[in-house]
Amino acid sequence: EPAFSVAGLCKVYRTGETEVHALRNVDLVIPAGEILVLLGPSGSGKSTFLNIIGGLDRPTSGSLAYEGQELSDLDDADLTRFRRANVGFIFQFYNLIPSLTAEENVRLVTDIAERPMDAGEALSLVGLAERRDHYPAQLSGGEQQRVAVARAIAKQPGVLLCDEPTGALDSATGVHVLQTLAQANRELGTTVVIITHNAGIAAMAHRVFHFLDGQVARIEINNHPVDPS
Ligand code: ADP
Ligand code: ADP
Repeated sequence: EPAFSVAGLCKVYRTGETEVHALRNVDLVIPAGEILVLLGPSGSGKSTFLNIIGGLDRPTSGSLAYEGQELSDLDDADLTRFRRANVGFIFQFYNLIPSLTAEENVRLVTDIAERPMDAGEALSLVGLAERRDHYPAQLSGGEQQRVAVARAIAKQPGVLLCDEPTGALDSATGVHVLQTLAQANRELGTTVVIITHNAGIAAMAHRVFHFLDGQVARIEINNHPVDPS
């Protein structure tokens, strides 16, 4: 069973008289257990797509299923439940709470998750066990993003949705963050979807979806994904 199946997905933003067709009839399947990269120019619909599959936004039309369950029929409360149980988000900016330590930031999630791993274990997985008592301001950008990765994987979601996860980092630091995502895929079996502008990141993906003008113009299958380096 695929993680996501999407058919005829459309998203129209209306502001006054103007309509923006952010997604135009997108059909695609996201196989479970893979790393998928969404590549394409700014404005091509990548974030809109990610937010819709993650249940943060709704399509204008079309169907969308997670592990066979149709999401477009869910009411807001059930969509939130879907998201809490199944989806970990990582954004360009880490969204850590400055007054809490690394471990406390991760605990915010593990305290309410259905089947969390231990917060310390999640921090160990991203290589930050020794920094657990540090506050965000005492951590580098890359370390803060790895805390965000730990927070996202701690609830053991089926999918990790990452919108420009290395966009605010220099390339050496970014590689370390990407390695933790590849490791989550390999060791936990998590499906990982990554939006990027960086074509180099595509080498770690099993599949690359090339977005253009609200459509998936091309799908590239990579039989030999390589760890980021
Ligand atoms: P990408 O992630 O590829 O840069 P987006 O999904 O952010 O693309 O945007 C796709 C299109 O939808 C763009 O034209 C963008 O300006 C428009 N758009 C995105 N979000 C909104 C919004 N909340 N309201 C109106 N237009 C939006
Ligand atoms: P919850 O687990 O309480 O349902 P959400 O699913 O609303 O939380 O959001 C998941 C995570 O993504 C939260 O950490 C939230 O702060 C963050 N988030 C949601 N929407 C955005 C956004 N547009 N930009 C940045 N972070 C966001």
